[in-house]
Amino acid sequence: MALIDEILATNEHFCANLPEEYKAYEHEDPHDSKIPKKHLAILTCVDARLVSYLEPALGLKRGDAKIIKTVGNCVTGYFDTAVKSLLVTIYELEVREIAVIGHHHCGMQATTSESLTKAMLSRGISPDAIKMVEKELKDWADGFRDPEQNVRDVVKLLREDPLIPKDVKIHGLLFHPRSGQLTLVDKGE
Ligand SMILES: [Zn+2]
Repeated sequence: MALIDEILATNEHFCANLPEEYKAYEHEDPHDSKIPKKHLAILTCVDARLVSYLEPALGLKRGDAKIIKTVGNCVTGYFDTAVKSLLVTIYELEVREIAVIGHHHCGMQATTSESLTKAMLSRGISPDAIKMVEKELKDWADGFRDPEQNVRDVVKLLREDPLIPKDVKIHGLLFHPRSGQLTLVDKGE
């Protein structure tokens, strides 16, 4: 069975046997339930090991926080996609604190503009298309060497971002995808 068919079949079974606790979601207030209860937004990595692990390790439940994910929890500018998401959570969804959470053994440590370019070329991507993003690719992929330093850099960028109000606290943390340990890198005031 193709993966997507397997997922659809699982979902059909899931909805037909919805546990009581999930049935209650239908009666939630459509506006209020969108506001994160802890007024927190998390920017973290797409790493699959964080799925169903990061949230319980932080004591977060459904409805508690907004979670934004980018590869290596990278932010590349004052108005990049991750920042746009953060701005909506701040201005529309009452977020008052941001936690940038990197993790040990992040795949971005081994990813370089050279490794990505090579892989793209081998998959038939045109050199012209790669040339179009050459500088951006280098700045982003080659700029990431250490997950802790990256967290510091992202926190610094967000604190300096002129679009983010100064009363939003911005913290930097590092998560271990095996032990589940969370380490404070930089506490926002
Ligand atoms: Zn990662």
